[in-house]
Amino acid sequence: MGARVIYWFRTDLRLHDSPALQVALDLNPEVLWPIFTWDPHYVYKARGGLNRWQFLLDCQMDLSASITKLNPKSKLFLIREAPQTVLPKLFKSWKVTHIVFERDTDAYPRERDAAVTAAAEAAGIKVITRSGRTLWDSDAIVKQRDGKPTMSITQLQTTGKQLGLIPRPIPAPTSLPDPGPMPLDFESEPPAPTEDINSEQRTKSDTGYMSIAGPKGDFGIETMEELGFPSATTPHRGGESIALRMLDDIIDNEEYTAKFEKPKTSPAQFEPQSTTLLSPFLHFGALSPRLFYWRVQDLTDAYGNGASKPPTSITGQLLFRDMYFAAQAAIGPAFTQTIRNRHCRFIPWHLRSKVDPKTGMVTGEYEIDSEEAEVWFQRWKRGTTGFPWIDALMRQLRHDGWIHHLGRHSVACFLTRGGCYIDWERGAEVFEELLLDHEPACNAGNWQWLSCSAFFHQYFRCYSPIAFGRNWDKNGDFVRRWIPELKDFPAKFIYEPWKAPIQDQKKAGVRITGDGISEPKDSELATYPKPMFDFNKRRDICMAAMKDAYDVALFGDDPCIMDGTWKGS
Ligand code: FAD
Repeated sequence: MGARVIYWFRTDLRLHDSPALQVALDLNPEVLWPIFTWDPHYVYKARGGLNRWQFLLDCQMDLSASITKLNPKSKLFLIREAPQTVLPKLFKSWKVTHIVFERDTDAYPRERDAAVTAAAEAAGIKVITRSGRTLWDSDAIVKQRDGKPTMSITQLQTTGKQLGLIPRPIPAPTSLPDPGPMPLDFESEPPAPTEDINSEQRTKSDTGYMSIAGPKGDFGIETMEELGFPSATTPHRGGESIALRMLDDIIDNEEYTAKFEKPKTSPAQFEPQSTTLLSPFLHFGALSPRLFYWRVQDLTDAYGNGASKPPTSITGQLLFRDMYFAAQAAIGPAFTQTIRNRHCRFIPWHLRSKVDPKTGMVTGEYEIDSEEAEVWFQRWKRGTTGFPWIDALMRQLRHDGWIHHLGRHSVACFLTRGGCYIDWERGAEVFEELLLDHEPACNAGNWQWLSCSAFFHQYFRCYSPIAFGRNWDKNGDFVRRWIPELKDFPAKFIYEPWKAPIQDQKKAGVRITGDGISEPKDSELATYPKPMFDFNKRRDICMAAMKDAYDVALFGDDPCIMDGTWKGS
């Protein structure tokens, strides 16, 4: 009997440059089932908004169509059950000999993959994995550094060089084997959920009423509508085909690509944005980071003088991505929190994560030492802080699921050390829900950077929610785009509308009034809220508090932070 292979797509929704798919094809399989499993962890536990769902479905549909182009009998088969429970049943029922997948170094996937691997090996099935999600294999970077995390891109570059050149991309396959028969002779038993899902969250599929092959029984991909979701709002659509076209356009623009310097790209530029917007494709694996890297590097090498270099070049941006992945691979599940993360500085924020004393892991609840800060958090989240630069960015994030890196800097600094003094973990949760490109390693790592909890420590360098926006966009076009209430506001006051005389407000058809939480009732005109605090005062308070936190210099394994309580001065 030839190899009967399940190829399990997860973080690699593409055909090009997939080392794992290539190794599956090198087995010369008699049959190959390309599958994707709906995993209750992502459906119920992870916070993922509608925009990210839409992007995922786009990527799945595009991949499925590409598979069918190579073999009309095949497609991406969607399996509706937790992989830990369904795969052992498929191994038996489909007479599988091999399961192949791309390695995933995030915390939950590591646990999940260990369970699937153990079940496969117990059933005599060979498990083959390959790295393909990053430039270098993150686990190999960690091993080379004797378990130490990469806390700077210089550390990543040095270690990467020791491992050798970033592998060159490999081409997409030109044909795919037929899938084998897919009997579901075990379906009468309802699957046991692997996660602690409460009864309200349980759907028909969890209780086994719906076939794992979906409502039509064809393992098909459903649309947002068929899944019962409201429409997404993002204009950004997913899929490998779009990613490759976007990459071609970027490479065609030789000067842009060769001279790209991140700090010179504007966070206020829109339609089109000033950076590549390829992050959501990288997140879903619709674009290979190695293809992206080498196409840019080859162009840059040929360009010669005047080309930018890491850390500000496009390739430098991809190195930052790898740095966070390798840091997470070294630190493990505690990477996305402060407690038990010995590389993350403890700062006594107003709203701090609660910790389960038994596990030492965060519970998702918060301790509050300032009711006012809770209100600030809510206003930040909904884009009604009264600071137009911050609100425009938060509204773009909610609507589009993407904002420029320096926009992320602005809102993250404002929420944490540069305004509200709220725990970065709370901000990271909002980003987890709203970002199309949400990547646990990059999100947590960048929040640590911006809050000066790890990676970056110059807490005295703070973003002004007024001057920073104005420096990029004097007329406030970006603000007008996202805050239509202010579209006719005079440029002079666009970043500080509360300073505009009443006559100017009336002339612009808007009143600056209200608390940013409740709708003002007595205004005939549109309204935009007053600022939630005096920024200069808050900045001074935050900076003094950061100085204290740094002077006490408490790190993760200090006994005084193990229970999350501050005992410093
Ligand atoms: P480009 O500037 O075109 O860069 C090319 C690629 O390099 C990006 O697609 C991305 O994959 C990578 N990259 C660039 N900057 C970074 C960076 N600082 N860290 C890691 N990778 C980078 N990026 C994510 O991919 N997922 C996240 O969840 C995420 N959360 C963030 C949270 C905060 C608070 C901040 C400040 C940044 C976060 N970033 C995250 C990093 C960065 O903002 C985005 O990767 C970038 O803005 C994506 O836009 P782009 O594709 O146009 O980037």
